[in-house]
Amino acid sequence: MKPARKLYIKSFGCQMNVYDSQRMADALAPEGYVETETPDDADLVVLNTCHIREKAAEKVYSELGRMRRLKEAAASDGRNVLITVAGCVAQAEGEEIVRRAPAVDVVVGSQNYHRLPDLIARAREGKIVDTQFPVEDKFDRLAAPSRAATRARGVSAFVTVQEGCDKFCTFCVVPYTRGAETSRPVVKILAEIERLAGAGVREVTLIGQNVNAYHGEGPDGRPSSLARLLERTARIPGIDRLRYTTSHPLDLGDDLIAAHRDLPALMPQLHLPVQSGSDRILAAMNRRHTRADYLDIIGRLREARPDLALTSDFIVGFPGETNDDFAATLKLVNEIGYSGAFSFKYSPRPGTPGADMDDQLDEAVKSERLYLLQDAIDRSQAAFNRDCRGRTLSVLLERPGRYQGQLIGRSPYLQPVQVEALSSLIGEIAAVTITDVASNSLFGTLAAAPANEPALAGAGA
Ligand code: SAM
Ligand code: SF4
Repeated sequence: MKPARKLYIKSFGCQMNVYDSQRMADALAPEGYVETETPDDADLVVLNTCHIREKAAEKVYSELGRMRRLKEAAASDGRNVLITVAGCVAQAEGEEIVRRAPAVDVVVGSQNYHRLPDLIARAREGKIVDTQFPVEDKFDRLAAPSRAATRARGVSAFVTVQEGCDKFCTFCVVPYTRGAETSRPVVKILAEIERLAGAGVREVTLIGQNVNAYHGEGPDGRPSSLARLLERTARIPGIDRLRYTTSHPLDLGDDLIAAHRDLPALMPQLHLPVQSGSDRILAAMNRRHTRADYLDIIGRLREARPDLALTSDFIVGFPGETNDDFAATLKLVNEIGYSGAFSFKYSPRPGTPGADMDDQLDEAVKSERLYLLQDAIDRSQAAFNRDCRGRTLSVLLERPGRYQGQLIGRSPYLQPVQVEALSSLIGEIAAVTITDVASNSLFGTLAAAPANEPALAGAGA
């Protein structure tokens, strides 16, 4: 038996990083590492970083300042704390991280973290930077989580099915930090989900930077689409709810649209980033579709699943964005009626074409547009939530709430729902009548009738 050691992992950025952090913990568990909630008593600290915007990347360096002080305090008590930087900042900046933050012992890229146990062992002799894209597939080398670890992570799980991106939107670092698009084989994904189901997971979200470009090898040796993968996943006993994210409009094929009509387990919610409502800006962003194309896809999706809740990502202040371009974005938000959306000020990223474009906008203009856009999104979200009042929704009860006797779950539309219920109901899909709504969540009481997923009693949809 290896001596017990404590591991603190902090995840920044997207769900892909949340998943990767869990897999890093799985890789380190056989070495005796047990996760701890705080860095104060950790023997190993891993920061799993995000490089998507400048602010996200800079956050890592301020966190590293804090970790350096903890490492120094531990050293004065005779404890050796190792600091690892993983994820997209590690991939993009490599050696530069050790130069800027000499307290860092290991820098490991997004495709190499299966090597962590070995890198950590070698770090006792000197600094290690491992950011080459490896020939081996990390997923084949990673230890599976124990049943107890899976249970502790809850009844809803993420599973990475696709990584990297070949789209090269002119604002985005992902194709450089995560590399070319690759898809995991169907059989391996299904085996992972079967294990999750065996440990009590009821909902799975298939994730990828560009998940609907999924084309992993099927059991017959031919590429499988995401729609086929969803169908197969829905057949796994115990998995009652499916989601997928994040999608690019260009890859939303007819079979995936049909899956929203035909697959009862596929939840009526879709994150489909559009970034801008202006054709001029969409072209400058290299999104390779127009506003009309996007509206056409939404129309077809809503035909397939009339109650589909839509969310999106937006960027304001992309180089050259005029008042008219921005007005087109606001108009699109009002037209679609999103159930929520993320919006960001454009952040020029070194090495991307957008960063070298001439007509960069002032911060003040970006801030004002962001304020106006967020206001429009908030109003859209509030209207969507208001429409849920009085309805009975099926809610997957996931975890205890802040108050005793309260549980928090998710509606089919991904809204958090606070319900008065016994903790023994965690993991159940319950019928909940929505009695009140707030800007970001719903409140409800258990309905007498059992929830019949995915039909929504009184849904009116
Ligand atoms: N693959 C997804 C897609 O096609 O939209 C999203 C990838 S990215 C991790 C998540 C979001 O970050 C993007 O949708 C975009 O809105 C935002 N983002 C990416 N690069 C950005 C930048 N340079 N400045 C501001 N926001 C950015
Ligand atoms: Fe980035 Fe998404 Fe565009 Fe790929 S499709 S470059 S991940 S924004």
